[in-house]
Amino acid sequence: MDFNDLGLSAKSLAGVVEHGFERPTEVQEKVLPISLSGKDVMVQSKTGSGKTLVFLLTIFERYLKDNSSKALIVAPTRELAVQIEEDAISFSKGIEGYQIGCFYGGVGYSKQLEEVKEGVNLAVGTPGRLLDFLLSGKLDFKAFDIVVLDEADRMFDMGFYPDIEKMFSRMRAREERQTMLFSATLSMKVRNLAWTFMNEPEEIEVRPEEVTVKEITQELFHITKDEKFPLLLSLLKKINPQSAIIFTNTKDGAVEVAMRLKLNGYRASYLMGDMQQSKRLKTLDAFKDGRITILVATDVAARGLQIDDLELVVNYDIPEDYENYVHRIGRTARAGKSGKAVTLADETYIYGLEPIEEFIHMKIPVLWPDECGLEEVEDKSSGIKIKKAKAESRKTDRPSRDRSKRSQGTRKSAPKNRKSSPDRTKKAHKASGKELLKKEVEGKNVKRINLNSIPQTEEKKGFFSFIKRIFGK
Ligand code: ADP
Ligand code: MG
Repeated sequence: MDFNDLGLSAKSLAGVVEHGFERPTEVQEKVLPISLSGKDVMVQSKTGSGKTLVFLLTIFERYLKDNSSKALIVAPTRELAVQIEEDAISFSKGIEGYQIGCFYGGVGYSKQLEEVKEGVNLAVGTPGRLLDFLLSGKLDFKAFDIVVLDEADRMFDMGFYPDIEKMFSRMRAREERQTMLFSATLSMKVRNLAWTFMNEPEEIEVRPEEVTVKEITQELFHITKDEKFPLLLSLLKKINPQSAIIFTNTKDGAVEVAMRLKLNGYRASYLMGDMQQSKRLKTLDAFKDGRITILVATDVAARGLQIDDLELVVNYDIPEDYENYVHRIGRTARAGKSGKAVTLADETYIYGLEPIEEFIHMKIPVLWPDECGLEEVEDKSSGIKIKKAKAESRKTDRPSRDRSKRSQGTRKSAPKNRKSSPDRTKKAHKASGKELLKKEVEGKNVKRINLNSIPQTEEKKGFFSFIKRIFGK
């Protein structure tokens, strides 16, 4: 199929042509005929499959038919809101006088207020700032006849839900607007919840059986916490990536890993909440244009971000929300490209592994350091103490609403039937984490590694010393 077969006008196609896109992606081909007819849609399609253009083209076409049309796009993080704004600007090149505003927190109000006053055809933003403008009477939500929630499952999470509910309650009736939801992961619970805010939406799933992108080579190492950084250094030396994102579960972790990588000569930096917004955006820009090679980030960078040709994603910590595994690794292998995702499973976060593997319907292939040609590398940061992130920043960082007071409420429980109950306390997790790691190692040994190789390797200090400790040898 060709873009021209979708009945799009030359004006909204001008941007697509300028980008050199030859044909619509699968999700564009499937959803556009429905969304262009004005119907509500709930769309699940893999990471990097081109969902942004589905809602942008739908919005542009509506505007070209009726110049009074106003659209709202809500996204969970400021960085994603800015990226969508940039896409909207660049893809609307052929539409004269089209006004776009981006509204997010952490920056001053004056510029955004000016945009609000002048009136925009398309408002993109994060819930916190959008609500500020709504509640202070500066932005009229009834004006929007198209509403998009990108990363929709995240928007219906506990952390955002009260805001989303408030926003919908101030909008025009659902029959009088078109509402569109997009994500790579849309659970039944989210769909049911969303249904109440939508007008008999068409639910479209593109290849739902492929939860993760085939072109991502996924690998996993079992390792103890203490040995993760040396292993990371070895991995980076071997892979030598042009660009890599390393995800940690905590802000302290992100700072520590980034600083240690710097001390080892890498152009690394960190990205997390509770950083000055201008610094967040500058860091991401520096990473996108290659001035930084390695970005160490919390889940604030897990959703939606497009980093062209990103080669490697490392889960330095296993994500606690199993869906975030899909989103994190989905920063690579976008738009048909390929990429690599390496996960380090240690005793603290190993509980997250089973729900992830259940969710993605596969076992992540396990590798062993000395069997895949990894060499030990001197850690130049060894023995150097790294300053912690600011005291108030030490909590687990999650992509949450602007200056969220509710971030504690955003933890998502894993599937009910998993053995590792999410109700256990962290202490209990840690106490029996080694046991579980041992079980995983044993289980996977049977299939994947030659047990006889362990006694030899454990003679050496280093990578396999963890096995020695786990097995109590
Ligand atoms: P998603 O939201 O599904 O994760 P995006 O909308 O961010 O994915 O798109 C991923 C990448 O694919 C972007 O760089 C985008 O410009 C590109 N892209 C989108 N549509 C096409 C297309 N039809 N042909 C080629 N590349 C495309
Ligand atoms: Mg997206």
